[in-house]
Amino acid sequence: MIHVDVAVIGGGICGCALLYELSRYRVSSILLERENDVSIGTTKANSAIVHAGYDPLPGTSMARYNVEGNALVKELCRKLDVPCKETGSLVLAFDGEEMLQVDVLFHRGRKNGVPGLRVLNPAEIRELEPAVSDAAKAALYAPSAAIVSPWELALALAETAVRNGAGVRLNSEVTAIRKGAGGRGFILAAGGEEIHARYVVNAAGVDCDLVDRLLNPASFTVHPSKGQYYLLDKSQGALVKHVIFQCPGKQGKGVLVAPTVHGNLIVGPDAEPAERGDLSTTAEGLEFVRRTAAKSVPGIAFRESIRNFSGLRALTDEEDFIVGESETPGFFRIAGIKSPGLTSAPAIARDMVRMLGASGLALEEKAEWVDRRHVVRFKQLSAAGRAELIRRQPLYGRIVCRCETVTEGEIVAALHSPLPPCSLDGVKRRCGTGMGRCQGGFCGPRVLEIIARETGCAPEQIPQDRAGMTVVTGRTKEGQ
Ligand SMILES: Cc1cc2nc3c(=O)[nH]c(=O)nc-3n(C[C@H](O)[C@H](O)[C@H](O)COP(=O)(O)OP(=O)(O)OC[C@H]3O[C@@H](n4cnc5c(N)ncnc54)[C@H](O)[C@@H]3O)c2cc1C
Repeated sequence: MIHVDVAVIGGGICGCALLYELSRYRVSSILLERENDVSIGTTKANSAIVHAGYDPLPGTSMARYNVEGNALVKELCRKLDVPCKETGSLVLAFDGEEMLQVDVLFHRGRKNGVPGLRVLNPAEIRELEPAVSDAAKAALYAPSAAIVSPWELALALAETAVRNGAGVRLNSEVTAIRKGAGGRGFILAAGGEEIHARYVVNAAGVDCDLVDRLLNPASFTVHPSKGQYYLLDKSQGALVKHVIFQCPGKQGKGVLVAPTVHGNLIVGPDAEPAERGDLSTTAEGLEFVRRTAAKSVPGIAFRESIRNFSGLRALTDEEDFIVGESETPGFFRIAGIKSPGLTSAPAIARDMVRMLGASGLALEEKAEWVDRRHVVRFKQLSAAGRAELIRRQPLYGRIVCRCETVTEGEIVAALHSPLPPCSLDGVKRRCGTGMGRCQGGFCGPRVLEIIARETGCAPEQIPQDRAGMTVVTGRTKEGQ
């Protein structure tokens, strides 16, 4: 039986950011995640943009969290050594109606406090982005927009929280929640354990409504909306330098073309209603993405695509995020966190801690709180740095992933970190193995061997990603 002050349900960017914020204080906290790793839901499958904040309506919590979150994400990435690049973004207008829309976004952004917004003419667009279509008549330029590695940010937040004493329970789906004895606190059933918590925060992403109904009467429902993407090889990564949006429509922010922090080009998403758990891609959806993106940037070489993927938006009937205490005192929600949820998460987390404090949680800061983190990335080191590292630890002299220049030393370090991976994709999210052109075709078997060696797991038990996604089933030539 576990007793904590706060139980956080869901290890996406929202749950991880909250765990990190709570770990500043003398508060016991635990994050309960049903999958075998954090950052495996919507947080790993999105556009990875740190939005500037001109989209949300002024006065909404979304607008406030977006603009605050934009600055916080960048600060956190600096402190926790997470890839993030301030690229700026353009929203293109192709006709008179869209030029009016750009004007609306400009004024909305000013009201929301977005710094440095400007409306560019065609010559200025061309100067910034030669690959953008000549048909663009104007663009809203937002210099504070950025690109980030979403899963590395969530991992860094969770890992730092664990270093500071917070708990993370993986493979722990919350299946029941009831009030504690005398109506005080809560008792959660998760992963075969009973967790007693004074406060509970539901940050369960697309399933936040289902988790809510474990305790509360139905008050909101998630209608998942799927977005599909192309990820293109690094040969295309420099085609544009900014995030290139089109004017937003009923379906959200529309199809974008953007560089990624790992040097690729991302193109997407579309928007279509979907079932929970449906992460398929379809020929029609991808064709729509290609056609729409070509309007902004005609020269995208889609034959250089190395991966298609999709993510699910947690849409509700509310325009705004649902952040606050539920009808059951002590049970809080971070729900309906659609875009710009990745950007907003650190600001939501700070606000949630304030709300927990207002509800009676004692918030005494820890003097010994550590919020710095450093990750060794071999390929970013100088020749002298690499030589010194190999001298100290020869495993850094063995390149495992040749596409991305990832060494055995980095994989072993990740496997012995405070929040170690247990799958091929878990190693990929931490070290970048398999992110290159071959998508793990060459390094996958070697990574599997290293995980097995370092963790003592049989290779047949090591999944590609989620539990049960088996990679190997046994030896083909037993005894040889
Ligand atoms: C196509 C698309 C593009 C987007 N682009 C951007 C963007 O560019 N910029 C931006 O700011 N935002 C963007 N977003 C939004 C952003 O990705 C999300 O708002 C954010 O990732 C949501 O994080 P989360 O923590 O709420 O949910 P998730 O990341 O989904 O995490 C929820 C977690 O809860 C777990 N869980 C569920 N039920 C239970 C249970 N019963 N017990 C235990 N655990 C449970 C799940 O396994 C999951 O890990 C985009 C979203 C989509 C879909």
